[in-house]
Amino acid sequence: MSDILTVAEHRRGGLRDVSFELISAGRELANETGGSLHVAVIGGSVDDFADTLNREGVDTIHTVDEGDEFNHNVYTQAVEQLYAELSPQYLVTPQTVNAMDYVPAVATELDVPFTTDVTDFEYDDGLTITREFYGGKTEGTVEMLGDDGVITIRPAEWPQTEAAGSATVEAADVDIDESAIRSTVNGFEEVAGGDVDISEAEFIVAIGRGIDEKENLDLIEELAETLDATLAASRPLVDSGWLPKNRQVGQSGKVVTPEVYIAIGISGAVQHVAGMKGSDTIIAINDDPSAPIFDIADYGIVDDLFEVVPELTEQFS
Ligand code: FAD
Repeated sequence: MSDILTVAEHRRGGLRDVSFELISAGRELANETGGSLHVAVIGGSVDDFADTLNREGVDTIHTVDEGDEFNHNVYTQAVEQLYAELSPQYLVTPQTVNAMDYVPAVATELDVPFTTDVTDFEYDDGLTITREFYGGKTEGTVEMLGDDGVITIRPAEWPQTEAAGSATVEAADVDIDESAIRSTVNGFEEVAGGDVDISEAEFIVAIGRGIDEKENLDLIEELAETLDATLAASRPLVDSGWLPKNRQVGQSGKVVTPEVYIAIGISGAVQHVAGMKGSDTIIAINDDPSAPIFDIADYGIVDDLFEVVPELTEQFS
């Protein structure tokens, strides 16, 4: 009992990036426990998904061809049955809306220790995990009792595994009780401003409270347009109703991993950084040289955004 079981995540026909982060985290843990890495993919185009998930470090991919989209009752049954069949030491899933829907139920049914929103772990005859507490204000470690359990990992904390692998793909021997399925997905409706999914953006221009007035947003929109970038924001702007919720980056917003993230008039509070620290290149524009955003920025401009932004827009036009 040293294997690791992970469950890939997909939505509306596409695998989510976190599935490839799970492979990195799962492989890391499997190396420490000395076991194999199993990846389950449940619902949707499972064979195509299995091809894409066949990355370095994965030993076996288990497909469960049941339904198109996420379903609580299907996932709960499938994961419990896979767990019973494979007897993994740990079940590792992402800390996402879908996973938080079914994983607590699975952990309760399995009656094993369960820790959420893991940002790091260490294994030494038992798992010690790192996570934040009090809304990200402190960080601590949790020792999981016993030698098995369930963890959910925070998106963008592990790199995505890119290299191709040579995993075995198996159709899982899972028997779903259709009468236990109590809900179905009938369709999707975007929330206001939901045309944009900032978590998929490659280039983000993000604006914070430094913008001062709603009217000044035009300045930032113009820069974003010139750079062909996606506009995002810190929470205060969303709370003020200046931008829709789906544009919020951070702990209570979205986790983004673009190639370039330009943070303008954003101080770099831990709750904001939690959502963007996985960006490849971070550029900060802030008139306060001691703003914490500069601690994680690759490039910084210490100046008034009302001087810098129009100049940037002109240079790139
Ligand atoms: P501020 O902290 O006010 O920073 C504004 C920055 O703009 C300052 O650094 C200032 O120097 C700079 N500035 C001002 N004028 C100019 C100028 N003219 N030119 C250049 N720079 C200028 N926040 C999030 O963003 N996302 C979340 O998901 C989130 N979730 C949260 C969850 C919880 C439970 C809690 C408690 C808080 C959460 N927050 C979140 C809020 C977070 O703690 C911060 O309050 C917020 O991120 C601050 O936003 P800001 O950087 O835009 O504003």
